[in-house]
Amino acid sequence: MAKEFAKRFYDSKAWKDCRESFISDRISVDGGMCQYCGEDLGYIVDHIEELTPDNINNPYITLNHDNLQYLSLKCHNIKTFSMDKDIVREGLMFDCNGELIQSPHK
Ligand SMILES: [Zn+2]
Repeated sequence: MAKEFAKRFYDSKAWKDCRESFISDRISVDGGMCQYCGEDLGYIVDHIEELTPDNINNPYITLNHDNLQYLSLKCHNIKTFSMDKDIVREGLMFDCNGELIQSPHK
């Protein structure tokens, strides 16, 4: 569930264009596979460093392909069916959009 400050960002044309070009890049690299499990096709474009009210206006965080990863539906769904403690133990975390990411603080 996106927080209010991020909602406007996720609706922006800048993000939609960025997301689209990131997916095109991933498809040209490995056919658009999930960057976490590498087994399934990507489904969600996720911010590695999670968005906060402090960085939401910083395009080097929000629109930087180096801060994005492509996750499969399966990896995205892990958050829905797993307990948070399991996620944390695996060195994972959820971003403000409720998406599963590799913890940058691992
Ligand atoms: Zn996956």
